[in-house]
Amino acid sequence: MTDFIKVENLVFDYIKSEDESTFRAIDDVSFTVEKGSFTAIIGQNGSGKSTLAKNINGLLLPTAGKIYVDGLDSADPENIWEVRQRVAMVFQNPDNQIVSSVVEDDVAFGPENLGVDPKEIRKRVDEALKSVEMYEFRRKAPHLLSGGQKQRIAIAGAVAMEPECIVFDEPTAMLDPNGRKEVIRAVRALNDVEGITVILITHYMEEVIHADHVYVMDKGSVKMQGTPKEIFSQVEKLKELRLSVPQVTLLSYELKKAGVPLPDGILETEELIRELKKVQ
Ligand code: ADP
Ligand code: MG
Repeated sequence: MTDFIKVENLVFDYIKSEDESTFRAIDDVSFTVEKGSFTAIIGQNGSGKSTLAKNINGLLLPTAGKIYVDGLDSADPENIWEVRQRVAMVFQNPDNQIVSSVVEDDVAFGPENLGVDPKEIRKRVDEALKSVEMYEFRRKAPHLLSGGQKQRIAIAGAVAMEPECIVFDEPTAMLDPNGRKEVIRAVRALNDVEGITVILITHYMEEVIHADHVYVMDKGSVKMQGTPKEIFSQVEKLKELRLSVPQVTLLSYELKKAGVPLPDGILETEELIRELKKVQ
């Protein structure tokens, strides 16, 4: 496996325009993201997740430290378009990301701006819509769609740019439970089927159980990292960081505390059932 993204001792300070005082939003963060992997980033509001995301695709540039995307230094002005071409972003609010009154025009918007050949655009738009299961909606008006459908249109727009990696910054935060499920299914399929490198920032612990690697941020630094099982085995530590664990993990944890012999870090219902059967 090759490292697609390398974050080296990243520091990012916001500078207030009024008095030029600085606020350190990212404080010495280092990690790597392998090509084709699924990385999740969790953390409280204000822990620096969005700032990190924007640094990864060159919307913000490091105050100190380095970010390499596919070997390209994000701080080199000559690389900026190449970095943004390789790393697309999907944000929280689908309404802010939709620009056209017809679904397929909206998905075509990005590649049109890149000057892609119209025939190629047609192909990309159809494939992108299929990859998020929204092809049948191609002639519809986005504003008539549900939140989850709109977000999948925004995702198709990112896919049509043919990035290597997509950073999803809390893509389900504004959605109802059904919309959340649809969007997470689409995100997982992009990773599993299309091989797109995924970085998912989220507040919902259930959404990270299938990630290859999880980073937990707090106050601008990475406080924990590991597989979902490793992370969610540490319920007390997560509580200290004011984070929860998936419901089934919490239930298993409480059962264990009450004396039921269960392993740590149970992530799925089926797993708990299997373990409970062993107990009898
Ligand atoms: P998260 O996405 O984890 O909620 P952010 O990266 O948005 O966190 O913010 C990290 C910290 O940086 C927060 O304390 C936030 O108030 C501060 N911050 C974010 N954007 C700005 C900005 N444009 N100017 C000054 N401070 C900011
Ligand atoms: Mg954020």
